[in-house]
Amino acid sequence: MSIFCVGRNYVLHAQELNNPVPAEPLIFMKPNTALLRDNKDFYFPNFSKEIHYEVELVLKIGKKAKCVAVNKALEYISHFSLGIDFTARDIQEKCKKNGHPWEIAKAFDHSAVLGEMIEISDSRLDDIAFSLTKNKNIVQSGNSKDMLFKPNHIINYISQFFTLQVNDLIFTGTPAGVGPIQIGDQYEGFIGQKSIFSCKIK
Ligand code: ZN
Repeated sequence: MSIFCVGRNYVLHAQELNNPVPAEPLIFMKPNTALLRDNKDFYFPNFSKEIHYEVELVLKIGKKAKCVAVNKALEYISHFSLGIDFTARDIQEKCKKNGHPWEIAKAFDHSAVLGEMIEISDSRLDDIAFSLTKNKNIVQSGNSKDMLFKPNHIINYISQFFTLQVNDLIFTGTPAGVGPIQIGDQYEGFIGQKSIFSCKIK
């Protein structure tokens, strides 16, 4: 099972980190050891002083996809969910400055929180509101309609380079409002009003 992630997929988030808005999807990956499910706690790792939350809609692949056309791409998504792309921002800044890959900042153990899966019908992906609360206060809210690259374009793009397989996951990028986590914080992710995951920082 592979985990693909899209970077800078919401204009306001690209701007808040002073990054250019990409002309093509910006793709990176996490290994399956990055997954953190079942509302488990996240233990703040000692290699970073600044870990950020990034709440993101997550797509689950339902059938093998290779070089899929944009107008067929939604057929390959079986479920969606919500998760967090935990990011060691201090390490990522160093990687970016040196022109190095991001993996140690993005793909470390338990950096991919994943919530409950929801079955989809195609039309529902167009307008999905989601949010993240930190200690019961909303810190991020977004809507899939504001994505720079929509799910069908993301699948079309990724599948040109990589064969997407059943159960692969795609984290589709975060809206604005990212920020640092602290030990003791409690995060909860919502799609609409429905609670999808919770995660406590230890
Ligand atoms: Zn992200």
